Amino acid sequence: MLMQKEREQIVEVGKLLYDKGLVQMSGGNVSIIDRKASLVAIKPSGAVYIHMKPEDIIIVDLDGNVVEGDKHPSIETFMHLGLYKDHPDFQAVVHCHPLHAVAWSLQHDYLPSVIAAQWSINGAVKVAPYFGAGTPGLAQSAVDAVGKDGFACILRAHGVIAGSPHDIFHAMEMCVTIEDAAHIASICEASGRGEMFTIDRQLGEEGGYDGLEKIRRFSAQS
Ligand SMILES: [Zn+2]
Repeated sequence: MLMQKEREQIVEVGKLLYDKGLVQMSGGNVSIIDRKASLVAIKPSGAVYIHMKPEDIIIVDLDGNVVEGDKHPSIETFMHLGLYKDHPDFQAVVHCHPLHAVAWSLQHDYLPSVIAAQWSINGAVKVAPYFGAGTPGLAQSAVDAVGKDGFACILRAHGVIAGSPHDIFHAMEMCVTIEDAAHIASICEASGRGEMFTIDRQLGEEGGYDGLEKIRRFSAQS
């Protein structure tokens, strides 16, 4: 079978996502790219994480054609391929459905920097406009919201997607960081105790996601 190691990592991360409550039975999807072979290993559509085996993983080319596997690839395959094309350094992509990040996306256009760990994802995270699951509109919306310099975004009323220049475990860690930040921001906002401290504001930036270039520059220097 092609991409044996990548298949095993996808199964392992799928179980971790499920154990941490970042996906439900079969929601979300995970992929790893082999840049030299121009192939992507991706979760099959509808596969239940706790039962998924390495041989279930589907191998597709960069146009989404199935190269190996007898199941359908994830319906979000083109969202993953879009990120790989837009970010030649990305090695793996994780898309999951964490509750607090999705809840935050219903009432906000971006998640501010509220925990130090967000430095690893360039601070604030944009909320991508809503498009239906599996549509070209969603794939483009995700690519646009991640942007050329970003790693991740929240998909409004849907989930989180993150691409890593390292590996699939790092991509999952970014999703966990976003979910932790959204959870903490939600608790703080719900307390009704007034303005929330954010690292963005501490650096003198209050203009929302689009005003965060200063944060990015600061982050790059530090
Ligand atoms: Zn999804």
